Amino acid sequence: MSTRVPALFLGHGNPMNALHENAWTRAWAAIGTALPRPRAVLAVSAHWYVPLTAVTAMASPRTLHDFGGFPRELYEVRYAAPGDPELAARVQRLLAPLAVAADQSWGLDHGSWSVLKHVFPDASVPVAQLSIDETRAADFHHELGARLRPLRDEGVLILGSGDIVHNLHAYAWGGHPREPYDWATRFEAWVRERLEAGDHAPLIDYGSLGQDALLSVPTPEHYLPLLYVLGASFPGEPVTFPVDGVDGGSVSMLAVQFG
Ligand code: ZN
Repeated sequence: MSTRVPALFLGHGNPMNALHENAWTRAWAAIGTALPRPRAVLAVSAHWYVPLTAVTAMASPRTLHDFGGFPRELYEVRYAAPGDPELAARVQRLLAPLAVAADQSWGLDHGSWSVLKHVFPDASVPVAQLSIDETRAADFHHELGARLRPLRDEGVLILGSGDIVHNLHAYAWGGHPREPYDWATRFEAWVRERLEAGDHAPLIDYGSLGQDALLSVPTPEHYLPLLYVLGASFPGEPVTFPVDGVDGGSVSMLAVQFG
């Protein structure tokens, strides 16, 4: 059996991080260097939020430029990692009897490649993406993560990519440094404490936290990848936070690593 691979959540933040070199991207690169080299990556990105569960099953996923209004240079990025049709089939078996569509049209969206470009810059580790079914409640996503946990002993890195706090209405576009909003700091600290305590239930029922959660998670898609990674953790497994910081006042860059 191969070494157990960690389960990792990365706060991807602004798509321009794909091109930048900063404290966050250097920390992503350091994670890639320190990890036991996985056989493949199963990425759960905030940006594939659709009304079904699907897994990319093509041999050569295209690089999706799923955003608007960024410099041309960002549209020219290609992340040419191979796909992994065998992993896609394995994911279908692990999640059965849930019907998981074998997708031939998506590819790698920027939630995946903007971080993978730093974690595995040579793009030699195969990548499959799993969609987030937008019609399902939070506990469903945590449960799918738990059912994917065996992949970690098969050399697969389960990578959630989102942002624990993600409020673009409050975000300081244009690069002016801004202190984090109090509600963002409080929500992120609360999540961190629950993670350290291994206390999954409140993290699944995060909305019960009230106003801080409403402002930090105005829509669920950037938070839910965390629940896949949480579900994929083993009971009592140590958790670390290899990247932190808040960008533009309202986007958390916190990374969460189990194992
Ligand atoms: Zn995003």
